[in-house]
Amino acid sequence: MAAIATEAAQVFLEQVPDYEPAAVRAAVFRLLEQAPPPIRRGDRVLIKPNFLAPASPRRAITTHPQVVRAAAEWALARGGSVLVADSPGTGSFERLLREGGYAAALAGLPLAIRPFRDTARVDIGPPFGAIAVAREALEADVVLNLPKLKSHCMMLLTLGVKNLFGCIVGLAKPEWHLRCGIDRASFARLLVGVCDAVGPAVTLLDGILALEGDGPGKGGTPRPVGMLAASASAPALDAAVCRLLGLRPEELPTHAAAAERGLLPAAIVLEGPRPQVVGFRLPVLAPLTFGPRRLEHLLRMHLVQRPALKPGVSCAGCGECARACPAAAIAPGRGRLDFDYRRCIRCYCCVEMCPHGLLRTAETRPGRWLRRLAALRDRIGRRPGRR
Ligand code: SF4
Ligand code: SF4
Repeated sequence: MAAIATEAAQVFLEQVPDYEPAAVRAAVFRLLEQAPPPIRRGDRVLIKPNFLAPASPRRAITTHPQVVRAAAEWALARGGSVLVADSPGTGSFERLLREGGYAAALAGLPLAIRPFRDTARVDIGPPFGAIAVAREALEADVVLNLPKLKSHCMMLLTLGVKNLFGCIVGLAKPEWHLRCGIDRASFARLLVGVCDAVGPAVTLLDGILALEGDGPGKGGTPRPVGMLAASASAPALDAAVCRLLGLRPEELPTHAAAAERGLLPAAIVLEGPRPQVVGFRLPVLAPLTFGPRRLEHLLRMHLVQRPALKPGVSCAGCGECARACPAAAIAPGRGRLDFDYRRCIRCYCCVEMCPHGLLRTAETRPGRWLRRLAALRDRIGRRPGRR
């Protein structure tokens, strides 16, 4: 079922201060009644949370278990046969269920919860063609997409569209990063293609405790925002959330890709209380490809932010970052980490996957000079009297 662009899309908002179960349940139910997924008795319902890695809900890198529980209860009450599934980037699924609080929160509910097991090929259009996506997502009658509001060092934010990249199973994720990760626009097209192929009936965003700074993994910083949001259109929801955070939706790489594909509505209507969010910290996105093609590699090497250990920390040598690296550009060792920046494609999967949150994106010195020069040029250009 493909998402369909409409004249106007509604995005429903709820203000929820914390994860008190009754309040979360009531708010999720209100949202799902306003943007109701069409569940009939016996329908296969896939709930797709963000299960990035095993982590306490206090780290704000995964969709909160109370939000997952409330959505599952709503679907079960309508007679759906519910599967909660994702393809986590790292760690065992059992640990994720335990540490993430899902085993406890979902106990007693008649549903299945497991990683995606199988794939099927689906044509997501040019330039990618037919690609392998979780079969469970493609064959579900109804998909409920439950992203977490997080900053993202490559794609600025991870919201509704980006969450469905989890339907690319296992090692195919780093492969796709390698194939189009150096080109943010191309990666955004892939994300939008997957989202369109999966066609979530509703996207319900957990932004009660969001993640800012060096997200989307444990390097980010939890930030209370107190918001749940839902829409039948994932791109519309993403655009609305950008505005609520004080950003232009065009700053989100997936926005342009959704527009190209005709998935953006002509208007977005916000319904419900708007959160007051000031100074949400985002990563600086430097272009990953620029300059003459023959100099691209050299420019990227010297000007684009690179992954690095945070100052003053000691690497535990677990090797998760090296396993996640699609370019085989990391050699871990106890206490230190060697990056081969000539191989590195700046996809930042390693930053996302470090289970200890020890990695960050670091500006290069020439990159910092260039950014300052560009800011200075913009300031001079904006002086009164200048055109
Ligand atoms: S070192 Fe990190 S940023 Fe570079 S290619 Fe590997 S995972 Fe991506
Ligand atoms: S940086 Fe993090 S993921 Fe990489 S080896 Fe060190 S502790 Fe493990």
